[in-house]
Amino acid sequence: MNIHEYQAKEVLKQYGVVVPDGKVAFSVEEAVKAAEEIGTDVTVVKAQIHAGGRGKAGGVKIAKHLDEVRTYAEELLGKKLVTHQTGPEGKEVKRLLIEQGCDIQSEYYVGMVVDRSTGRVAIMASEEGGTEIEEVAAKTPEKIFTETIDPTVGLLPFQARKLAFAINIPKELVNKAATFMMGLYKAFVEKDCSLAEINPLVVTGDGNVMALDAKLNFDDNALYRHPDIQALRDEDEEDPKEIEASKHDLSYIALDGNIGCMVNGAGLAMATMDIIKHHGGEPANFLDVGGGASTEKVTEAFKIILSDQKVKGILVNIFGGIMKCDVIANGVVEAAKQVGLDRPLVVRLEGTNVELGKEILSNSNLNITPATSMDEAAEKIVAAVK
Ligand code: ADP
Ligand code: MG
Repeated sequence: MNIHEYQAKEVLKQYGVVVPDGKVAFSVEEAVKAAEEIGTDVTVVKAQIHAGGRGKAGGVKIAKHLDEVRTYAEELLGKKLVTHQTGPEGKEVKRLLIEQGCDIQSEYYVGMVVDRSTGRVAIMASEEGGTEIEEVAAKTPEKIFTETIDPTVGLLPFQARKLAFAINIPKELVNKAATFMMGLYKAFVEKDCSLAEINPLVVTGDGNVMALDAKLNFDDNALYRHPDIQALRDEDEEDPKEIEASKHDLSYIALDGNIGCMVNGAGLAMATMDIIKHHGGEPANFLDVGGGASTEKVTEAFKIILSDQKVKGILVNIFGGIMKCDVIANGVVEAAKQVGLDRPLVVRLEGTNVELGKEILSNSNLNITPATSMDEAAEKIVAAVK
């Protein structure tokens, strides 16, 4: 799960990570009031969307008067901000962060991720802050320094200082930078983050080290341990189909193609997407209905696929093990009854109760194209949507 910058800053503050003084605003009036309360000469008006690259896209504005705060707030609220992370359709700005303007001396990068190859948290730092770190990694990888953290002892002060020296934090501020990283690590572990990114971390004219931007991602599987983090969820930023799917405990990821997929098992779902692509089609989603899904769950899954206007055809590919083919068949028939099946549907069933499943489908009078192999199924659905 992803949260907004202002929320991430609130979380980090609890761990002693220094952030600029700021307030969230949902309206122009709230924005002006927040700037008044912050009371600095310069305030920054920042669009809050779940995407980076806002600065370049005009989503971060420096205001020198309250009038300017008003102008920028009016301009940004309700605007569709298109950044390199939002995709061409952009994201509508519904919240603003009104923040104290900082006297930036230099910008750095500090990030933390769970490194799957070492099975440990890695902390990365670079002198090239403010820019896209992907670009630094591609062009000048020697400018990124990494420390791997041993979970039994956590981030050690010497590791943090080593990074601070490596990225040329002014000597007198190295300890402040190290404290900053230790706080960030504590937050990362205690809140079960999967990613933390401070870009930029800045050194200010008055000798402070602070997070000017903050991005935190959380491990969904650990969210049950953090009701405070769960409360920060902004459903406006998420795909409504994915929200609906999570309510029914379905693993669903929306994609850009036009072939809806309903599959049981993540591995089979990946293979199904591959074979669709192999035949020249594009999957509209990843969907794993799980091993022991009920008819209701299958019905909901099918409804979610049908609610996607981009979907021009559906491929159901089930290998019945624990999941029985008749349950899937009943779910498909039930969903089609409830919402109407107006698009081509290819079904490939194999495994437990396959004959019963096929019988249910053929007795349903639905317009279903059966297939016996995965290959044939993919070929048929790709042809049907073309
Ligand atoms: P994004 O990463 O989405 O572009 P950032 O929060 O990193 O957004 O802001 C982009 C740039 O705007 C920063 O690199 C910094 O130069 C400037 N900026 C952001 N917040 C402030 C602030 N409070 N005071 C001064 N400059 C800021
Ligand atoms: Mg940034």
